[in-house]
Formats: sequence, structure tokens, C-alpha cells
Amino acid sequence: ITFADLELSEPLLRAISDMSYTHPTPIQAQAIPAILMARDVMGVAQTGTGKTASFTLPMLEILADSRARARMPRSLILEPTRELALQVAENFVNYGKYLKLNHALLIGGESMADQKEVLNRGVDVLIATPGRLLDLFERGGLMLNHTGILVIDEADRMLDMGFIPDIEKIVGLLPPNRQTLLFSATMAPTIRKLADTFLHSPKEITV
Ligand code: AMP
Repeated sequence: ITFADLELSEPLLRAISDMSYTHPTPIQAQAIPAILMARDVMGVAQTGTGKTASFTLPMLEILADSRARARMPRSLILEPTRELALQVAENFVNYGKYLKLNHALLIGGESMADQKEVLNRGVDVLIATPGRLLDLFERGGLMLNHTGILVIDEADRMLDMGFIPDIEKIVGLLPPNRQTLLFSATMAPTIRKLADTFLHSPKEITV
């Protein structure tokens, strides 16, 4: 199986080939087609398995296909730490280099005013840590009722860091008919419960 078999379009295939990836990893081979078919996905995978590209690539494909210019984020990726958020943003830059989509980072340590301004220009992909996102939301600088794709990455670390109540709040701000993707290194009972609450008949992928 190749990336072309996964029905990714030319601009993404070119970016993938620039990265010198020859074949999709197992999580990519399973998650990409499911996400492109608009399914929810529950992925149990460690870092190093290629899990970031398994959601980044199909998200870019979906967002490039439907180009609604809204002044609110079209998709949201939640990461437990600033470092992980930065890494995911780097992935978007690499894979999205031949697409005209933009992303914004909402993480601690950046000025609130700057972040508000970026949001006002409209973002396709918002990458955020939960606390910072809620901070900005409470200040009235953010609307999430048109955010059609949600990724909860590293759910087990979110749990360890006490972010689950924040995530529940954030999910409540998104439309109920969104597409939700949840990734976790382990499948603890609490994560399973979270998946049951947030996902609609997800495709479960364990690698
Ligand atoms: P991740 O599990 O998302 O942290 O990715 C781990 C590493 O694998 C990153 O450095 C990626 O650039 C790399 N990677 C992701 N997908 C592939 C692929 N299909 N072939 C080779 N390397 C990849």
C-alpha cells in the first residue's frame, strides 16, 4: 500500500515525497481512509508510530476540499503540552506546504493580544493546549460553534495532567455533529469512557 492508494491528493503526495516517506505506517494506513470517510477514530498508538501524520494528512485533505472562509476555526487539535503543540504545528507546515491553509497556535507564553489577532484573520487549523484555549474563550476572543473536526491527542497524558474537565468544557462548545478523533498511548478505563462520551461509533485502531 502506498500513500497514493489512500486517495490523498497531489499537493499532499508531493509534500510526503519531499519528506522521503515511502510507505504509510500501519496507523496511517488504517486511520487515513476512515478519517477521509468522515468517521470518528479512536487510535491507540504511541508516539513514533507516525500517528501525527495519521490525523494531520486527512485533515489537510478535508480542509482543502471544502474551502469555507469563516472567521472561526474550522478544526481544533488539543495537545497536553506546549512542546507537543509546536511539534504538531511543524507537521502542518511540512505536509501543508503546497496547500493554502493556515494554522494558529494557542499556547502559554505568547501574548493574548497577538493570539486574538491571529484568530480574527480566520484559521483552518487551531492547535491549542486546553487551559490556554479556555482562557481565550472566556475573554470572548474565540468561537468554536463552527469547528467541524476535533482531535484530542495524547488523551492519557491529558488525563494524567488533570485536563479532562477542561476537555469536557471545550467539547461542549463544539457542534454535536463534528468529527472527533481521539488518540491515546493506552486504553485505560477512563479513556474508554471518554471515547464513549465524545465519539460516535468510532473506528478503533490499535497499533
Ligand atoms: P509521530 O509518531 O507522529 O511522532 O511520528 C514519528 C516520526 O515518524 C516523525 O519524525 C515523522 O516525521 C516520521 N514519520 C511519520 N510518518 C512516516 C512515514 N510514513 N514514513 C517514514 N517516517 C514517518
